[in-house]
Amino acid sequence: MGVWKSRKSPEEPDLGLMPRFTRSGMVEVPRHKIPDQEMLPQTAYQIVLDEVMLDGNARFNLATFVTTWMDDEADRLYAATFAKNMIDKDEYPQTAEIESRCVRMLGDLWHAPHAADSVGTSTTGSSEGCMLGGLALKRRWQTARRAAGLPADKPNIVMGGNVQVVWEKFANYWEVEPRYVPLEGDVFHLTADRLLDHVDENTIGVVAVLGSTMDGTYEPVQEICAALDRYQADSGVNVPVHVDAASGGFIAPFLQPDLLWDFRLERVVSIQTSGHKFGLVYPGIGWVLWRDATYLPEDLVFHVNYLGGDMPTFALNFSRPGAQVVLQYFQFLRLGREGFRLVQQTCQDVAHHIADTLRAMPEFHVISDGSDLPVVTFSMGNGVTKYDVYDVSRKLRERGWLVPAYTMPPKREDLAVLRIVVRNGFSHDMAELFLADLRTAVDYLDDLASPMPREEHPDGFHH
Ligand SMILES: *Cc1c(COP(=O)(O)O)cnc(C)c1O
Repeated sequence: MGVWKSRKSPEEPDLGLMPRFTRSGMVEVPRHKIPDQEMLPQTAYQIVLDEVMLDGNARFNLATFVTTWMDDEADRLYAATFAKNMIDKDEYPQTAEIESRCVRMLGDLWHAPHAADSVGTSTTGSSEGCMLGGLALKRRWQTARRAAGLPADKPNIVMGGNVQVVWEKFANYWEVEPRYVPLEGDVFHLTADRLLDHVDENTIGVVAVLGSTMDGTYEPVQEICAALDRYQADSGVNVPVHVDAASGGFIAPFLQPDLLWDFRLERVVSIQTSGHKFGLVYPGIGWVLWRDATYLPEDLVFHVNYLGGDMPTFALNFSRPGAQVVLQYFQFLRLGREGFRLVQQTCQDVAHHIADTLRAMPEFHVISDGSDLPVVTFSMGNGVTKYDVYDVSRKLRERGWLVPAYTMPPKREDLAVLRIVVRNGFSHDMAELFLADLRTAVDYLDDLASPMPREEHPDGFHH
């Protein structure tokens, strides 16, 4: 597997690429070594473009949460700003100013108590935002423990068994014991009632997920906070909450404005989101905000003297692209609150339509119908035994649709599901095409399965 060791497979002959359209007389381009000689930019462009054309078509990708379409104007703005380096705040003060404006806009959207002086930063995505939010929790806990003369060497972080892999990474990289609250029954996320058994004085924080990647449902942040209020009243231990709003941070404010999940809840000290998911920007942008400056320990902030300026930064990266920050600002201006609401509402309408259609099909059982995130999760119906979600996923792929099939986290690994993320650009028309292809796939699998009982197929249908 080793991601850092990119290897050619042993059976792959070491033939070079043989582009037919070379213009500089070159006939062979090595694949695993930098070529000895230069080539014309047009030639390199064509070779690389042809290679990436083999990637799947992003518009048929119902697996990803990440933005695959923006306005032409956004594309032009991107082209005009992709040379900007976010760290050069001294060189690109206006990009830095735009970043601060976006942070304040999000502070306002998420009801930060002092939105005009919101504390936060852009990141490369939610993953970096989670790392920074988690680090701030750990540092604050350590500082408080040491100040009280208590041991600070066994930090733990509590979260549902459904958390995104980044929290496992956080715990591993920063040596914090991960405590996963196992899933139970038909609720596939963290709930308040099973939380407190896992919390103690060494808990740096609880992660509540607004929009589980498993099924798109929201964890009950308000109830989780209330349970921790009771815990504090009983034990004196104050456990803060970080909300992983990777997707929900840009959905709930528009579709469920009355839901209490953000800084309106006192116990929520930090929130991160992915600008490149429902923030509607191309990949490479996330945001993390703290309730106020007290929740971001000053000793984590570096004051870098760079090109003559004093620049406070809290980030894992040094250089990183600034264009995505500009694009986030573009989306805020372009759509406004009403535009965001319309886009997200359309996604939810499409998700509901898909869920309703699936409910009418005995082959499927709907697990989540897009009422929280515009995500539909479904398993095979009770009567279906001859084929499974993996067969359906494979069959759909023949028509270009990427619909992931996977099992739920520990304790509910028995349940295998398919998931559809409805994103901006997945129209009602496309949904109809998809549903027709799904119907065809199911009929095909049914036909394949029915003429002979399974025993007569020694190989079964599973490869
Ligand atoms: C996508 C996701 C992440 C990771 O976000 P990136 O922006 O891809 O780094 C973390 N948590 C949740 C709940 C997510 O959906």
